[in-house]
Amino acid sequence: MKKNDMILILVVLIVGIISYGIVNAIKHNDESNLKVIIKHKGVVVKEYAFTHETQKTYVLDSEDEVNVVQIKNGEVSVTEANCHDLICVKTGAISKPGEIIVCLPHKFTVEIVSNEMLNELDDIVE
Ligand SMILES: [Zn+2]
Repeated sequence: MKKNDMILILVVLIVGIISYGIVNAIKHNDESNLKVIIKHKGVVVKEYAFTHETQKTYVLDSEDEVNVVQIKNGEVSVTEANCHDLICVKTGAISKPGEIIVCLPHKFTVEIVSNEMLNELDDIVE
C-alpha cells in the first residue's frame, strides 16, 4: 500500500468519527429539547422548557375551574383539580414526549412534546 493511500484512509476514518460525534451530539440535544405545553379550551396558556431540573407549579384558576400542574424530578402531573371525575389527577405523572394528561370536564390538557414533534406539526400545517 502506498503512503498516500494510508493517509487517505486515515483522513476518511477521522472524518467519519467526527461526523458520528456531531450527529450524536445533535441527537442528544434533540432529546433534551422537551417542552411542557399546557392548554385550556384549545389555547396554549403556558409553556415550559422541560428538563430533569425543571421545577414549576402552574395553577389554572378560571371560572371556578381549578387544575394544579406540578413539574419536578423530570415528571409532570396534575396534583389537584376540582373537576368531577378527577381523571387528570388519577392519570398520574408523565415524563416522555407524546404523553398527555387530559381533563375533559375543564377542556384542560398538559402534554410533553419534543421540538422535533413541533417541527413535524409545523410541516403538516404548511
Ligand atoms: Zn380533571
